[in-house]
Amino acid sequence: VQAAGFEKPALPLSDELAQEMQKLDQMFWIDQQKLKDITKQFKVELDQGLKKNNQNIPMNITWVLGQPHGDEKGSFLTVDLGGTNLRVCWITLPGSRGQPSIVQEKYQLSKEVKTGTANQLWDEVADRMQTFIRDQRLDEKATQPLPLGFTFSYPAMQDFIDHGVLQTWTKGWDVKGVEGEDVTIQLREAMEKRKLPVKLVALINDTTGAMIASAYHDPETIVGAIFGTGCNAAYMEDSDSIPKIAGRLPPACPVAINCEYGAFDNSHTVLPMTKYDHIIDKESPRPGEQAFEKMSAGLYLGEIFRLALIDLAKRNLIFHNQDISRLDKSYILDTGFLCAIEDDRSSGLQNTATSFEAHTGITLNTQERQLCRYLAELIAIRGARLCACGIAAICSKKNIEHGHVAADGSVANKHPKFKRRWADALAEILEWDEQRTEDPIVLTPAEDGSGIGAAVIVAMTLERARKGDD
Ligand code: BGC
Ligand code: MG
Repeated sequence: VQAAGFEKPALPLSDELAQEMQKLDQMFWIDQQKLKDITKQFKVELDQGLKKNNQNIPMNITWVLGQPHGDEKGSFLTVDLGGTNLRVCWITLPGSRGQPSIVQEKYQLSKEVKTGTANQLWDEVADRMQTFIRDQRLDEKATQPLPLGFTFSYPAMQDFIDHGVLQTWTKGWDVKGVEGEDVTIQLREAMEKRKLPVKLVALINDTTGAMIASAYHDPETIVGAIFGTGCNAAYMEDSDSIPKIAGRLPPACPVAINCEYGAFDNSHTVLPMTKYDHIIDKESPRPGEQAFEKMSAGLYLGEIFRLALIDLAKRNLIFHNQDISRLDKSYILDTGFLCAIEDDRSSGLQNTATSFEAHTGITLNTQERQLCRYLAELIAIRGARLCACGIAAICSKKNIEHGHVAADGSVANKHPKFKRRWADALAEILEWDEQRTEDPIVLTPAEDGSGIGAAVIVAMTLERARKGDD
């Protein structure tokens, strides 16, 4: 049994179950050599994405040129359309690396909006903006249109910073009439209908936002990463190393690349997919896409866990004589649920049993509690180790040997053991000295990317435009 931190069950397991655990262990454990193989292929695909369009990893140009200086100033509107929430903020950057101030409002997005039509989606966004602007009386104070940074946490192909065509929905979203369209045009139309005094200045990915917001205070920032509902990272590339936009930027110009590496290995050459991963893919709204994300991101971890349990139950190995119909429903267990199992310090895993019963109606016996704990660990460890491969690939591609990976998202911030597991895997891939006193590349909590990051990017963009006009 290889998974770190697994405590031997107090009671001996039946032979049958012990064997199953061993099989699960083999299925989900990724050893050092495999991590290296994955990282090597990851690097190949990062390079391919910089050369041409329509590769596995899109490597989207963000037109964010260079890191911020910290003296960016002004007040900006930001809208964050993430996987679960919509957030509208009014942000003031005081300049000289001072503490930004924020006023914000957060709204839950309904399933109807996530899977409805383009009009429904943009009406919802624009309505919320309208209410916010009115409540904060921003229109009364403004003498010119409010500059907007729009954080859109989906893959968008951009020819300019204030435009972007949605390549594909991810994270279970499925809004009709947006893929292949310019999302900024659709949002602008909805804003115009309401005569909102707003000018969309920049379309931003959450990873780019995380990198820029963090670099605003921390010059050691090398990557902005999201380990949340979805997974992805952004880093600074050199314009000379991006053949697909040759000549469009000055030489030696730093530009942020939104990798969109959730799409790594969409051609299924190296990732060790289990039968459960195949089911997730097949039953998702976009089969064949986001192969890497579906094995490592928060949206899917609980579902992998559920599928494994259902499999065992249907083979009559667990949950004897219990009604499994509630458990047989997709996506009823989320990553928070898995975290709680791993965090359970109660005697006999009583808390796990209670919460499992509340979610599924199933009563866990002692062995089943141990099995749940074990499975939750295997799945979370695999996810964390895969997440390390993406960052290792970026760092080795760029010969980055030390710095901060500014990370945001529920998995990075709420999962108690993610950081350690991720760092251990990174050390294995990059073969760090075992005697080291500290890790050269570390995960740091990102500053608010979709708020402050977006505001800083708008400030940088407006400043560049001003200089261009001189
Ligand atoms: C999206 C990315 C985003 C990531 C994290 C992925 O599904 O394609 O654009 O950065 O999720 O939110
Ligand atoms: Mg988000």
